[in-house]
Amino acid sequence: MNAIKRLPTDIANKIAAGEVITEPVDVVKELVENALDAKATRITVELQEGGIQSIAVIDDGDGIHADDASLLFERHATSKIESAKDLFQVSSFGFRGEALASIASISKIQVYSRHKDEMQGFRITKYGQNLMGNERISREKGTRIEVEDLFFNTPVRSHFLDKTKTLERHVTELMEAIAVSHPEIEFRYFVDDELVFQTRGDSDELSAIEEIFGEELTKNLLAIDTPIQNGRVKGYISNLALTKGTKRFQYVFVNGRYVKDGHFDMALKNAYEGLLMLRRFPVCFLWIDLKVSDVDVNVHPRKLEVRIRAYEELIKSLGDTLRERLRKKQDFVQVKSEPPKVFEPIRNVEQIDFSTITKREEPTVVREVVEVYEEPSYHDFIDRLSYIGQAFDSFLIYQSGSSMYLMDQHAAHEKVLFERFMKEWKALEVNSQLLLVPFTVELTSAEKSLIDLEKLEQAGFDVEFFGDKKLVIRAIPHLFTEAQARRFLDTYRTHVIEEKVEDIILMSCKAAIKSNHALDPLEVKTLLEELKTLKDPYTCPHGRPIFIEMTRSEIEKRFERI
Ligand code: ADP
Ligand code: MG
Repeated sequence: MNAIKRLPTDIANKIAAGEVITEPVDVVKELVENALDAKATRITVELQEGGIQSIAVIDDGDGIHADDASLLFERHATSKIESAKDLFQVSSFGFRGEALASIASISKIQVYSRHKDEMQGFRITKYGQNLMGNERISREKGTRIEVEDLFFNTPVRSHFLDKTKTLERHVTELMEAIAVSHPEIEFRYFVDDELVFQTRGDSDELSAIEEIFGEELTKNLLAIDTPIQNGRVKGYISNLALTKGTKRFQYVFVNGRYVKDGHFDMALKNAYEGLLMLRRFPVCFLWIDLKVSDVDVNVHPRKLEVRIRAYEELIKSLGDTLRERLRKKQDFVQVKSEPPKVFEPIRNVEQIDFSTITKREEPTVVREVVEVYEEPSYHDFIDRLSYIGQAFDSFLIYQSGSSMYLMDQHAAHEKVLFERFMKEWKALEVNSQLLLVPFTVELTSAEKSLIDLEKLEQAGFDVEFFGDKKLVIRAIPHLFTEAQARRFLDTYRTHVIEEKVEDIILMSCKAAIKSNHALDPLEVKTLLEELKTLKDPYTCPHGRPIFIEMTRSEIEKRFERI
């Protein structure tokens, strides 16, 4: 008997399926891309139980010839490639005639379709390897594909049973990305019979974004359309008022293809560095167009990954471009038309008495994005501020151009301290304060082995082992209170977590300011000078604004002059 055998077709299909269909989102992707290839203008996707129970994709595209029905589930059956030469020029999305065969081999699938040139349509049903039926039916033009009981005949299925929500989220993210990148198509997306979103198909990306993600998110986006290294970036990024607790709202399309592999995290991180609160992430919808020859999209069978030539330069260029965009329309401004209640203790400006304001405008919230300067430099803005006075021992009042600015001195101070301390920390040159009474920390031997005395010293501690199980602390970083130093060491000795450092430093800065309320004129000046040296003097370390602006016309309106 010969040892080499040809695999039965069904097994071959299942193997292929295992490579490309690992969860429902892969099925949805293939089916929707087929619908796009078929020139659909309306596409509906319905999901039940994360897609494991059922997935339906309905389109109004060109449809499938009834004669092709039985070929649909054959591997390498495709209407999209005629010769090997075409392989290198496929503009359509599919993966060369394998999707339906793969999906069909691991599910119960029904395809309903009518080709646009035919009078009658068909319905074909297949359960795993068994063809259950193929009959003529009448129906509207286009295709409906239902995939039920995904993975019913494979061992992976049980693995998914408790993960419905995760599977669903993956599909939802994909659907959002596809709908945003195809604003010319009307999408409807249902989960467990409920409409999640619907887009208008009016060819406007921003309107698709608004329909999917809502108005609040959309109005905080800044448009961008700029050349970058070897290409161009278009789309939208969030201003500083809009951040999310996850990276989920970061959509990047490279040459029209949705890419979700964190390749561009670095660029975003660089762009927003120092501008956002800890663990807050920007939102973006970016279309990056590069020369086709610079991009390899065939790295991963699911094609969510790409390989890009001169990748590092691109990341740098993209990061710089986005940052520049943020600077240009830096909106550190959130003007509410509802006036601050009392404004009267403004020194030096007797002629303006805000306390006489009795009539209020409609309490609509006016958000203003202020073009601060064309040739952007943060420092320019600060240089142009002329100081007017201080209110409530808390807010500094400035005037510049046709606007009045209020600065939150505590936020500013906190930012200055935080940046200064972070810098010292990173350079391992933190100043110390000597403790009157040293304290000790008990250690287990495992903890002891983790402690790096040298590093702690560079971080502003004066520490020393005492006996076997104790650490004596004689000096601590200058910004820490003793309690914070204790807490810090507590975290430090169990695991050296760098990201905790930032949290603790942040708290320390806050504490440092509390004891330091009213500012004298010299301090005011120093604060502004220090602020000037920062990369971002507009937001405090928690992401709140340091400045707010009231434009002259805003004020005049309130006085009913205009
Ligand atoms: P590929 O997309 O690579 O050709 P698939 O297995 O995804 O391979 O699809 C096989 C063929 O089935 C396609 O080439 C196309 O002719 C047809 N087809 C699949 N889905 C649709 C659809 N929604 N509308 C029209 N034709 C479709
Ligand atoms: Mg396909």
